[in-house]
Amino acid sequence: AFLDRIDEVDSTVNAFISTNREAALAAARRVDERVAAGEELGPLAGVPIAVKDLLCWNESPTTAGSRILEGWVPPYDATIVQRLLDAGLVIIGKTNLDEFAMGSTGENSAYGATRNPWDSSRIPGGSGSGSAAALAAFEAPLTIGTDTGGSIRQPAALTGTVGVKPTYGGTSRFGVIAMASSLDQPGPCARNVGDAALLHEVICGHDPADSTSLDAPVPAVVEAAELADVAGMRIGIVRELSGEGFSADVRQRFEESVELLKAAGAEVVEVSCPNFGYALGAYYLIMPAEVSSNLSRYDAMRYGLRVGDDGSNGVEQVMRASRAAGFGDEVKRRIILGTYALSSGYYDAYYGSAQKVRTLVQRDFEAAFAECDVLVSPVTTTTAYPLGEKVDDPVAMYAGDLATIPSNLAGIPAGSVPCGLGASDGLPVGFHIMAPAMADDRVYRVGAALE
Ligand code: GLN
Repeated sequence: AFLDRIDEVDSTVNAFISTNREAALAAARRVDERVAAGEELGPLAGVPIAVKDLLCWNESPTTAGSRILEGWVPPYDATIVQRLLDAGLVIIGKTNLDEFAMGSTGENSAYGATRNPWDSSRIPGGSGSGSAAALAAFEAPLTIGTDTGGSIRQPAALTGTVGVKPTYGGTSRFGVIAMASSLDQPGPCARNVGDAALLHEVICGHDPADSTSLDAPVPAVVEAAELADVAGMRIGIVRELSGEGFSADVRQRFEESVELLKAAGAEVVEVSCPNFGYALGAYYLIMPAEVSSNLSRYDAMRYGLRVGDDGSNGVEQVMRASRAAGFGDEVKRRIILGTYALSSGYYDAYYGSAQKVRTLVQRDFEAAFAECDVLVSPVTTTTAYPLGEKVDDPVAMYAGDLATIPSNLAGIPAGSVPCGLGASDGLPVGFHIMAPAMADDRVYRVGAALE
């Protein structure tokens, strides 16, 4: 049914880069066989799922939304993909994304922009444009996203769906194509909080193949989503993330949601995180620095696109031609910025100071969590804007990541849940819940209470 739905609507939505009906039907048959053999499978066995095309799955090409990986089929599965299959989920396809997960709109994909199912003239948010739009368009009941600076939460907010970035180290990055390794974190996307929690428990947990994976029990998120009770919880509104810079529509729904939480028995206080004003600037130095390093592996020698290999060119010329043809503008911009920020003579001034700001942001969170159980804010500065509005102004696009980036810098869990539609435009607004490291359950508890 979901594959048929994709055939019906995806020429408009463009949430998928590839589907794999054959692999999906074979996986579904395997689930039937396992059940028939008496195996006890979890609650998501047999449920279809789509995976952001940044995760390796050896049944289909993995593109990262880039021409540079054209035609590459990974020889192995990401740990998350393996866990989905072990739990009996049925992978139906790979979702569209901004190239190498770089963007906030879905427009930087080499496979065409994804459209917002609420209004196809608007962006669905990025970089996990397809993972969110597929849910909103009923093309999949569950999807996997990745979040480096907001790429799970921001598209969730703009499409009225749920997306959670777990604690850094909570989900394995093994087999997830790297953008900025110290920030990247895969996570669950769903149509409601309970479904996201079930998926969270399937994909989280220690993985020896990822050196930053946490060897700790997975927080009890399903139980928390079932509890859905905020009575007695202390909820902090982050002053720096709730007023200036956010549209009236977004602010109105955010404030209403806070009132609902108060009515449900939560104690709401205002807290200040004075260094958050520098977080965006620090992210847009640390992230490109890591990008420039991670993307140096696309040298046209090992996998993907190779241009100019006709016997007349040397290795360096082939690398240069392949990278010039294979990477899009936003990826090139970030590689250049990152290489500059890391270059000798500038390293301390840019990368070094950005790392210091990162520590200050972490300290702001520590101080705030000493007073509160969770922190809340809007997710995005506006509702979904028209396609094309910011394509020529990357800095304006970056500014929309204001609220999502601090939690990536600090490695804490954070999620977006729908909180109504903008009064002036009828488009979805997301509510942002941040919790201390390894307290992912609180994100679900508050999210479920609002639902
Ligand atoms: N919008 C942010 C960026 O462009 C976040 C990307 C992400 O989380 N992958 O870098």
